[in-house]
Amino acid sequence: MKPIGLIGGMSWESTAHYYRVLNREVAERLGGLHSADILLHSVDFAPIAEMQAAGAWQELGEILADSAKRLEQAGAGLIGIATNTMHNVADQVQQAVSIPLIHIADPTADALLADGFENVGLLGTRFTMEMDFYTGGLKKRGLKPIVPDVGITDLNAIIYEELCKGVVSDRSRHTYIAAIERLQARGAEAVILGCTEISMLIDDDVSPIPTYDTTDLHAKALVDAAL
Ligand code: GLU
Repeated sequence: MKPIGLIGGMSWESTAHYYRVLNREVAERLGGLHSADILLHSVDFAPIAEMQAAGAWQELGEILADSAKRLEQAGAGLIGIATNTMHNVADQVQQAVSIPLIHIADPTADALLADGFENVGLLGTRFTMEMDFYTGGLKKRGLKPIVPDVGITDLNAIIYEELCKGVVSDRSRHTYIAAIERLQARGAEAVILGCTEISMLIDDDVSPIPTYDTTDLHAKALVDAAL
């Protein structure tokens, strides 16, 4: 098993979820007392979130590239960035190391295509929904992403002001369900939970269309690559 180098802390709430899925997957696949070999660099999220808001993506890329180098030097065999948003700097991170970066959008696109979906809703931070780095990658894979046309400020605020701080409320769950219903009305057959905290609010039981949880899919892909 290759050690999994995980760049986490964005937020630590979802990194904790990654930790659980990585270990559970390895235990299920190898049996017995097997658990994942993980090197985790968990960053302080406050300055990262400030730099995102300021659009300082070059600097953010340098910070994550440095993190990846440290994980490679410590013996990681592959790298995962435990957030969708920060995949905006995935190329910069990959260029900094010689071990593979397992991109979060790849297993997500694989799962949607395997299930025969093409028109897919995408929920995430403002950056993930509005910038091209994520939707562009999905389009290259043959998917037709649909992002919310209203309410982006609220959806984004729920991530940074609630979920990243461990706050889960029915009110915010309803906001997300309403956003999914609107995506469905605009043609979405399934929805990507394209922020690693959204599964704290939404799952298949409450969503009107099938959900694709990027945290779960990414963690499983990291285990695939490690084994
Ligand atoms: N974890 C979130 C994501 O998957 C948002 C936090 C961040 O900005 O990294 O996009």
